[in-house]
Amino acid sequence: MKQELIRNFSIVAHIDHGKSTIADRLIEFTGGLDKRNMKEQVLDSMDIERERGITIKAQTVRLFYKADDGNTYQLNLIDTPGHVDFTYEVSRSLAACDGGLLVVDAAQGVEAQTIANAYMAIDQDLELIPVLNKIDLPSADPDRVRKEIEDIVGIDASDAVLASAKDGVGIKEILESVVRRIPVPKGDENAPLKAMIFDSWYDSYQGVVVLIRVIDGTVKAGDKIKFMSTNQQYLLDKVGVFTPKPLTVNDLSVGEVGFFTAAIKDITDVNIGDTVTLASNPAKEAFPGFKTVKPVVFCGLYPVDSADFEDVRDALDKLRLNDSSITYEAESSVALGFGFRCGFLGLLHMEIIQERLEREFDLDLVTTAPTVVFKVMKTNGEMIEVDNPADLPEPSEIDFIEEPIIAATVILPETYVGGIIQLMVAKRGTQKNMRYLTQGRVILEYELPLGEVVMDFYDKLKSISRGYASFDYEFAGYRQANLVKLDILINGEAVDALSIIVHRDHSFYKGRDLVEKLKEVIHRQMFDIAIQAAIGNKILSRSTVKAFRKNVIAKCYGGDISRKRKLLEKQKAGKKRMKQVGNVEIPQEAFLAVLRIG
Ligand code: GDP
Ligand code: MG
Repeated sequence: MKQELIRNFSIVAHIDHGKSTIADRLIEFTGGLDKRNMKEQVLDSMDIERERGITIKAQTVRLFYKADDGNTYQLNLIDTPGHVDFTYEVSRSLAACDGGLLVVDAAQGVEAQTIANAYMAIDQDLELIPVLNKIDLPSADPDRVRKEIEDIVGIDASDAVLASAKDGVGIKEILESVVRRIPVPKGDENAPLKAMIFDSWYDSYQGVVVLIRVIDGTVKAGDKIKFMSTNQQYLLDKVGVFTPKPLTVNDLSVGEVGFFTAAIKDITDVNIGDTVTLASNPAKEAFPGFKTVKPVVFCGLYPVDSADFEDVRDALDKLRLNDSSITYEAESSVALGFGFRCGFLGLLHMEIIQERLEREFDLDLVTTAPTVVFKVMKTNGEMIEVDNPADLPEPSEIDFIEEPIIAATVILPETYVGGIIQLMVAKRGTQKNMRYLTQGRVILEYELPLGEVVMDFYDKLKSISRGYASFDYEFAGYRQANLVKLDILINGEAVDALSIIVHRDHSFYKGRDLVEKLKEVIHRQMFDIAIQAAIGNKILSRSTVKAFRKNVIAKCYGGDISRKRKLLEKQKAGKKRMKQVGNVEIPQEAFLAVLRIG
């Protein structure tokens, strides 16, 4: 394809503003799929994505569009995830583009991730075309939203496209704007091959599938390529594009976007942001790479049945083939036995992985409460990182502890500002800025400990604002705080998997609330169960679960044997997610009880 006729673009938006639906309409309009093959949100290919209605893995699709000027253009659309946990995928997808559609819900207006994603695009010098979606909604207010885009994002929105992806309105206008406003890809077709890797995943038939954007030159099947960061060489099996179905092509040339396979077995051999060149005629310089992402949230994953330990490892090995951002390490807990300490990019990422482990691998897991990574300066001058409260050294060995801090942005209707400020104070936040976005809508900027956010922050934010507050954050460094380990004792024995790290000023009420919560979720057994919260030897709070054996059969009044069996089976299933700690059965909910206290 002639370089002048190629356009590479992305769609950036806050979650639920309609990116995927617009992508569907663009594919449909350009004939990429006929109506029969068209499922809603075709780019969201994983089952979980479909069910949760979110986009996890960025995808790319090649479309052909015959424009009003008579030319047929090749449009490469790169769909991006919109959730805060997956920000790094957005940024690397943007690096493969020359422009983007900034989609904003015309009823809701600019939200926290609209700003974050738009700034990321602007940082990469992308031309942004504002699209006001959902104009079919009675509450749509394009004039207000245009003003918000201009005031907050700082780009001209006077010629924003008005669209309704639902009704198919504005789709042709979007395509015409892409052709007219998004720059032609730069690059030299005669220079040695230089292509940037912006995504990869594992496919059990073809090995690793590598997504690239060709910066200079051409690449075709049979070429011997080289990854510039490692000097590893591979013979290319196949070069192709998604339409959105995979389609083999002869070559990918300057400006084009597509994939290759080369029987690569291990996803860790492929580095996102790396440069691909020809082994025989290499490019002089590599493309500047991306930052590698590090997990920020950790939790323990333990098989309910210890015999399943190796199965959990196999499952994690398999998942990592497709998601190199997960980390895991075998660990053991006095209470839970053998399991893994796993690291994730955020809470949603953690939930998705837990769900996939259980659903795709049929594992029964007990998970512990999420925690962040603390930096602990020991009195011997050694600095260690602690991602498990049980690993915190004795207080006498600790000089000081630092915790991760984030810079958070919240956008919300002014009615809820009071409630959200209270929440921020309770979560140890510091206000940095507060101003009006437009009449009635406020933008708040806070610094907050990430450890407070991984607890029950999102749920509280949503419930206080009745779902109207949007939230985004970036990492802002480490800061010292007066933190202590709060232990939970069951019948006098500390249960390591229930320990949490909290601010000293919050330790009393957190201990009290946690004990009360545990009392609710731990079932009565044949003996009394004492639950205590303690810091070191100091008991902060105590409660007792009174002895009682729930006799489910008693309810059946004799008679129907099959009903009895069903009840027994139900009781057994109810026991599945239990861990025996000493002689006390502790259910899964107990390990997450801390998420449900103030
Ligand atoms: P994404 O999270 O940005 O990918 O958003 P989706 O494309 O998944 O859309 C979120 C929700 O908004 C879905 O329920 C869509 O059906 C709905 N939606 C998308 N576009 C429109 C539109 O133009 N009008 C209306 N009324 N709803 C829309
Ligand atoms: Mg989507």
